[in-house]
Formats: sequence, structure tokens, C-alpha cells
Amino acid sequence: MIIEGLFVHHDRIERHQVACTFKRSTRHSIPLIQKVAHKIGTADLIFNDDALIFPAFIDIHVHARDDIGKKESYKEDFNSLSLAAINGGVFAVVDMPNNLTAPPINQINYKQKLKLVHDLNLNSNSNSNSKIAVALYAGITRDSNPFIMDESNVPYKYFFNSSPQIQITEEIISRYKNQQITFHAEDANYFLPGPELSNDKHYKHYKHHEVRSEEAEIRAIKEIIKLTIKYNLKTIIAHVSTVEGVKLCQQAKKEGLNLKLEVCFHHLLLNHEEHPEKYFQVNPPLRSKKTQRAMLDFIIDKNSPLYSPFDYLVTDHAPHTFEEKMKGISGFPGLDTYGLMAAYLIKEKGVDPTLISRLSSYNPGKFFNYFQNSDEKIFLGKIEENYHAKFTVMDFSKKTLIDKNFIQSKCKHSPYNGMEVNAKVFLV
Ligand SMILES: [Zn+2]
Repeated sequence: MIIEGLFVHHDRIERHQVACTFKRSTRHSIPLIQKVAHKIGTADLIFNDDALIFPAFIDIHVHARDDIGKKESYKEDFNSLSLAAINGGVFAVVDMPNNLTAPPINQINYKQKLKLVHDLNLNSNSNSNSKIAVALYAGITRDSNPFIMDESNVPYKYFFNSSPQIQITEEIISRYKNQQITFHAEDANYFLPGPELSNDKHYKHYKHHEVRSEEAEIRAIKEIIKLTIKYNLKTIIAHVSTVEGVKLCQQAKKEGLNLKLEVCFHHLLLNHEEHPEKYFQVNPPLRSKKTQRAMLDFIIDKNSPLYSPFDYLVTDHAPHTFEEKMKGISGFPGLDTYGLMAAYLIKEKGVDPTLISRLSSYNPGKFFNYFQNSDEKIFLGKIEENYHAKFTVMDFSKKTLIDKNFIQSKCKHSPYNGMEVNAKVFLV
């Protein structure tokens, strides 16, 4: 099979051909890239220059809500998550550990959840066109310890605000020396009106984005940088949402720290002035128009010395029901619209497609390839020999309306509802 078109690598855009072939022993039905060249032969599939072809997108921050207890499967499960991801041009995800019945905070639960994923996803052989590849985070709690698992690598997630006392956080993190940890960076000590008053009647006079102030994120990032140095961590700051937070991380990176940054589409595109809570309630909250614009400028303004501080574009997909949203629950879905919002950033905001390729394919590909716990590994993120041949195509000659018919996630709503995007996005 030969595909021809305009391929978007992390460092260049080039029109060429890609030859793919099936390896006989593979259980999953994803071909391997055999050759990349300008002319290999007669193409089976040709895309004109209206289409951009990326290495398949990978979202390293989603909440599928699925575990053995199925208590939240009314919100989503790995099957509906797969459909939403494919709809959004996303072929692989890394799932967060905040499950209700058996959260993967110890090895037994982690292996149990892995089995659930393996039974469902690619390796199951059943209709693999509706399946995606899934890797799993493990959770960190007050009593948890790093896993000792043979031949596997486990990424951890820590909610910084789960303990308001920094000494306790440090005591926990000190057990995770040298590990890969993604931090939810909000320090509850800087919530307004303050944690001790959070049940007080004053609390209701504050809006969600006022309670969870920018200061809370900035303070948490400062502490996380200290912990990263002290315990030699490989750190990811999840969904950074403040300019000051970004700058602190940029400086830390310059000083050689192993620190990476996630950014969510919604912190680049939405703000609390135009998108009011409750529906638009999320953690960290949508910020002011000014902050949102500055966050977007980080990926637009190539002349700025601060250009491109992020490593991963993520959704933080959190598929609550619409009723739950209107009661005021934090988080919203994003997987269905991953590819369309990436297309929107390119087409309407002038973001360089190679930057999207880096943040949505190349960098998350390296993360996924390393942390997938599968007996048959899939290699994603690059259009190169011996990587798997999965591509996200953006066809700019078509349009897509985002409405409840478009959404494949069980929740059937989207923060981008009603928007028509000048692109169609699909996986090949
Ligand atoms: Zn999250």
C-alpha cells in the first residue's frame, strides 16, 4: 500500500510517498512504514494539497472513567472513548488514574486495569478499526509506593492539592525519586477565600475561577520545580494555564531540568469572560481574556523569545453528563474535537502545522511508545521506517459542524458546540 500527499513532520512539511506493509506476526492490524521517499511507485491513496497528513495524534491526558466497578460507565467507557478519539483523529491516549472502584494506585489494581484495556483495545483482534491504543497512568496517594514491575515503565500522576501541607507532599514525593510524574499544579493554600474557609458561607460569593486563582497554579509550579530538582524527577506540569507558570517552567527547562508542559485546547481558545461557569467550569479554570490571548500567542508569535514553550497538546477529556455540568462539576469533553481544534489553530490562528505535529504526534509519541504496557508495542509519532502507519488527515476542503450528532462521546456535548470548522479530520 502506497500513500501520497503532503506529510507534516515535526520539523518540515513535504509532499512524498509512504509505503506500508503488514508484518505477518502482528496480532493487531496496523501496518508498518516500510519506506518514505518522493517516488516509490503507483500510489493507492493520493491526497491533494488541501489535505495535511500527520503522524496519528496522541492525547496523553484523558479521563476514560472506566474500571472494573463500572460505576462511572454512564459517563464513558473505553469503547465510547475509542469512538470519540477516532472521531477526533486521535489514535492513542494515556488514561488518568482517578477511578472510583479500583484506582490504579497499587500494582494489583494497575494490572487489573491494564487487563481491562487489553481486552478491549487493539490486541483483542475484534474490529480493530474501532479501537485505539491505550496506556495508563498510576496514581500517587499518601500511602502509595512506586511499582516494581518487570520490563515495564509506569508514568505517575499526582494531584498537588490533595494535601494542603507541602511537608506531606514532599514526604510522598520523596518515595518517587527518579520517576516520571505528571502534576496537577494547583496549591489549595492559595485558593480564595482560603482552604479553612472553603465550607464557609463566604465561599459562595466567589466564582470558581476566583477561588482557583492564577496564584494557586503559580505557587504550585514553584514547589514542583523544587521537588523536581531535589528528587531528580521527570516532571510534566499538567494543563498549564497561566503566563507566569509557563515562564517559570521555561526558565527551569533552560537550566536543564527534566520538565515538560501540557497545554489544553480550552486554555488556548476559551476564557471565563466569554464562556461563563457553570458549564465552562474546569480545573484549572478558564482564565481571563488577556491570559487566554497570551497563552495562544505562545504558539503563534514566532519572533518572540518565548515562542513554543509547550510539549504536549492535550484535552483533559472529562466526559460528565450535561446535567452534571449544569450542577457545577469541573471538566469537559475534548477528544471528539481534538483534530478539529488543531485544524482551527492552523487555519484560523496561523499556528505552524509542524508545531502541531510536534505537540500532538512527535512528543506524545515518544511518551506513549515508552510507557505503553503491551506485549506487542506500537510505535507512533514519526513518519519513518519501522514506525506504525497510522495517520491523522486534515482535509481543509471540507467543513464540519460540531453538534450532538457529531459527538461520539457518551456525554453528547462539547464546549465548542455550534461551531463550524473549515476542515474534516479522520484517521487512515
Ligand atoms: Zn485531568
